[in-house]
Amino acid sequence: MRVFEAKNRLGGRAHSFRERETGATIDNCQHVLLGCCDAARGFLDKIGSAERIAFYDQMTLIGAKGESLTIKSSMLPAPLHLLPAILRTRYFTAGEKLELGRVFARIAQTPPENTLSARDYLREIKCPQRLIDLLIDPILASALNETASDASAEYARMVVSKSLMEGRHGYKLGVPDGPLSQLIEVPALRYLSRRGCMVHTSAKIEKLHFRGDMVTSALLSDGKRIRPDYYVCAVPPWSLDEMGFATYAARRLRWRPIVCVHLFYDDPCVDFERSCVVGEPFGWVFNKTSDFGLNFGYIQAVASAAESLNGLDNNDIIELAERAVAKAIPHPHKPALKRAVIYNASRATFSTGDTSDGLRPSTVTPIQNLFLAGDWTDTRWPATIEGAAISGIKAANAILRR
Ligand SMILES: Cc1cc2nc3c(=O)[nH]c(=O)nc-3n(C[C@H](O)[C@H](O)[C@H](O)COP(=O)(O)OP(=O)(O)OC[C@H]3O[C@@H](n4cnc5c(N)ncnc54)[C@H](O)[C@@H]3O)c2cc1C
Repeated sequence: MRVFEAKNRLGGRAHSFRERETGATIDNCQHVLLGCCDAARGFLDKIGSAERIAFYDQMTLIGAKGESLTIKSSMLPAPLHLLPAILRTRYFTAGEKLELGRVFARIAQTPPENTLSARDYLREIKCPQRLIDLLIDPILASALNETASDASAEYARMVVSKSLMEGRHGYKLGVPDGPLSQLIEVPALRYLSRRGCMVHTSAKIEKLHFRGDMVTSALLSDGKRIRPDYYVCAVPPWSLDEMGFATYAARRLRWRPIVCVHLFYDDPCVDFERSCVVGEPFGWVFNKTSDFGLNFGYIQAVASAAESLNGLDNNDIIELAERAVAKAIPHPHKPALKRAVIYNASRATFSTGDTSDGLRPSTVTPIQNLFLAGDWTDTRWPATIEGAAISGIKAANAILRR
């Protein structure tokens, strides 16, 4: 088996790089998994890096006035396991807690019609707007990179059910204990090399050549041709299009941005770990200081569904990131910011909006020896590491069957 990667590093949209001024190896953006991401966990287990991701049994949401909700499992079985945490909190009023119980029961019992958007679905099951603002949207933004106003009903229901209702561990946030390169790139390369697989970087596939219903060769950027028995294209739809295999998805899937601001402080002493900051454009802040073994402070602020940042200048973006950090740090000790790096991924994830299903191609194509993989293929998962892992398993199984 041979792998050809256009960039000079592996990792794709989940990669690390060396930051110019601080010299630290950092990620393009914090990547997290949920406890319900079974395929991704299986993948990490297989390549030997599963222990590099810690699943935290507490997740904290901070509201507009500083009120907080700590989601934590009790001894009760699912779907009641989070009930004590919800009952205890002042984040919701008593009336909202009752409504939440009713809304969750409706979500469990009532699948949406295929064409409905999440907003219409939530309206149909009479979910109050406050619950959408306080809980549903922060969860959807984290998992789907879009809020109820844009997400598809099917995906929104799946995310809420899988993370909060189906199992006792689904809500747990899995955070890597260091750079993504140590979680994915290095162990994957080791795993592949030990099995005799050759990995070529800076090796773009320019074109696929077809005869009838077969690919006969692939042209590399250095002019060489390869002629394997089977081809798995695990590239984004626009790259596949350029290679000569057009999909409906390349033209029709909408993609959404994520903006990550890496904030470096002169002092490492920020005593919080991670929080979801509700109502802020930068909805998550992660303290990465100890994970990266740095002697200065390092926080990442992540803005999902980040269209609202389009057109802002860098100083405004950094200010918004710092505003989210200020809400997350419990004590008013604010170290001085010494450097900020903005990473803007304009095509971070595809939109699950009500047009995306049916657009996602399946692994098997009409070309006998060509198979597709990648988070945007038809996995029934949103654009995530979980979706990418499922797509890889599907492609491998399809080749074995053939
Ligand atoms: C900022 C950001 C934050 C994210 N946060 C999360 C998160 O918290 N949790 C989560 O689960 N997911 C997250 N995601 C999504 C996750 O990164 C993707 O779902 C996942 O990486 C997709 O993997 P993939 O292999 O399908 O595609 P990609 O990672 O896009 O890999 C495709 C690869 O193909 C290569 N390529 C393209 N064209 C060619 C060619 N012609 N020849 C050879 N190689 C080519 C590319 O260089 C790339 O390396 C995030 C994404 C971004 C951008």
